[in-house]
Amino acid sequence: AKKNGRNQMAFFSPALDHAAQTRLQLADQLREAIRTEAFELHYQVKVDIASGQAMGAEALLRWRHPVQGLIPPAEFIPLAEETGLIVAIGEWALQTACMAAESWHRCLGTPLSIAVNLSAKQFQDAALLEKVRTALLHSGLPAHRLELEITESMMMHKPDEAAATMRALRQLGVHLAIDDFGTGYSSLGYLSRFPIQCLKIDRSFVQNVPDSETDSTIARSIVSLGKSLGLTVVAEGVETQSQLDFLRQHGCHIAQGYLLGRPLEAARFIEQLRQQEAA
Ligand code: C2E
Ligand code: CA
Ligand code: CA
Ligand code: CA
Repeated sequence: AKKNGRNQMAFFSPALDHAAQTRLQLADQLREAIRTEAFELHYQVKVDIASGQAMGAEALLRWRHPVQGLIPPAEFIPLAEETGLIVAIGEWALQTACMAAESWHRCLGTPLSIAVNLSAKQFQDAALLEKVRTALLHSGLPAHRLELEITESMMMHKPDEAAATMRALRQLGVHLAIDDFGTGYSSLGYLSRFPIQCLKIDRSFVQNVPDSETDSTIARSIVSLGKSLGLTVVAEGVETQSQLDFLRQHGCHIAQGYLLGRPLEAARFIEQLRQQEAA
């Protein structure tokens, strides 16, 4: 039988501490938010470093809460993940992001790629492939313009199953990126075992470039590793011109960060693209 969150809470209430109550309330609100489509995607531009042209965007989830306003993903994704609600939210995000990317193409005449973050639960969902296929079909977005971002830990959890999922996604034609690269615990050997196209250097390494010698060495090494494996290398969290200059100098392909553009809601993102094209 399907359990009702509210009834459960009433039943267990006396024994529950405050934190657990809050979590149950939040889970209820998340379910309600799915029903009322209270989620939004904000889009952050990805720029080709050599040409300075916008080449795509990453879709970043937000929750438009009736009382608390815009809530960042860090505050609700962990619970959405634990409760499994992330699967429905993620499916919505996938569809919405693909539709957005295709609409920019129609509006601006320039094809842009769209990167969507996958959660661990979504990555393990047996229906993932079908959901990706449906999102592409409904939006009309060509598969090669969709990039799915996954983390090292998601790949290393059950490496054989992960590799099989990734091969199936590749057969659809979508691109796969490793997010937050360098922060996981995996060995480099796995890079050749998984069919990936892109590495995203984690912001923590980009942040102290070029002042920190160690971080500069790490960032430079990731760029050269990615390039020698034939992968596209993206630097995330680029905030300063000197970071961007360093990345350009070392041949990093793509930059993303506040220097190039903050995540913006869809309408403002299109405005930003228009202004950049006019400039
Ligand atoms: P992420 O995938 O590593 O996304 C990058 C985060 O860095 C985003 O935070 C972005 O707003 C922020 N950021 C971008 N440029 C800069 C910069 O120059 N400086 C600084 N300080 N920060 C920058 P956000 O939007 O709060 O997202 C946090 C995390 O939530 C994401 O990290 C991702 O792991 C997760 N997330 C976001 N959207 C989704 C989604 O649709 N599904 C899933 N499963 N996870 C998502
Ligand atoms: Ca990401
Ligand atoms: Ca990232
Ligand atoms: Ca990150």
